[in-house]
Amino acid sequence: MENTNEIQRQIATPKKKMPGSVIGVIASASVFLALNVIAGILANNIISAFVTVLIWGLILFFFARGGRLSRWLLTIYSLLTIGGLAAAVIVPSISKGFNFVNLLVILVVSSPVMATLAFAYKKSARQYAGLYCPACGSAKVRSGDIMYREVVCKECGGRWK
Ligand SMILES: [Zn+2]
Repeated sequence: MENTNEIQRQIATPKKKMPGSVIGVIASASVFLALNVIAGILANNIISAFVTVLIWGLILFFFARGGRLSRWLLTIYSLLTIGGLAAAVIVPSISKGFNFVNLLVILVVSSPVMATLAFAYKKSARQYAGLYCPACGSAKVRSGDIMYREVVCKECGGRWK
């Protein structure tokens, strides 16, 4: 008896056109970065804004090329950003009372980050990153190596780059 999961078939994956969802990720993240730069100028904190643009720029560069590790970084960084923005409203409101203007600013700044995440998790964006099995169409996949360069299908055992 042979276990089908042990069959390590190499599947050729064709180059794909960038889907609208990936363009949506880049566009939403760009809106966030523009707001970040404006906030940096207003708060006289250009260095911090520059570092943010640099980090996001690198993540987006790899994401646009269908990177899988960059998806994780994008997710973690987006959640940290949203969490940080939420803390910026919650923490001062404990001591000084609730500030509606602060909440409004945070909502405006965090909405493009939420849009970035929503676009990144659309099926077409996940397909673009090669997270659907090209042989059987399953979304049940795992990383084939530590760097996520190779993906293995949990359903049919297919492997692709
Ligand atoms: Zn499969």
